[in-house]
Amino acid sequence: MNTYGFGLIVILFCFGLAGGYVGKVKGSSFIVWFLISFCIPFIGLLTAVLYRYENQELRRQCPRCHRVVKLYDAVCMRCGYELEFPDVAIAPEAQLRDGVTR
Ligand SMILES: [Zn+2]
Repeated sequence: MNTYGFGLIVILFCFGLAGGYVGKVKGSSFIVWFLISFCIPFIGLLTAVLYRYENQELRRQCPRCHRVVKLYDAVCMRCGYELEFPDVAIAPEAQLRDGVTR
């Protein structure tokens, strides 16, 4: 491999790491965001930065299978139950974690 190609790989790798880290901080998968940022640098990293914080979303429990799903989900991911907008929401994971440490 020539010097230019190697340099490019290093740059892409850095983008991958940055994107993966941002994704992980937001409660998403490190590997997924690493691959996205590695394959499409700039855009992938930008997407990771703009992506919503998975662990700061309000949650609620499915009335049929009792799985905890995100508040914005219209259908339960496990049993396919159609969810109406709930009266009560469960606090986001990030808030619960903060509550434990404080
Ligand atoms: Zn369900």
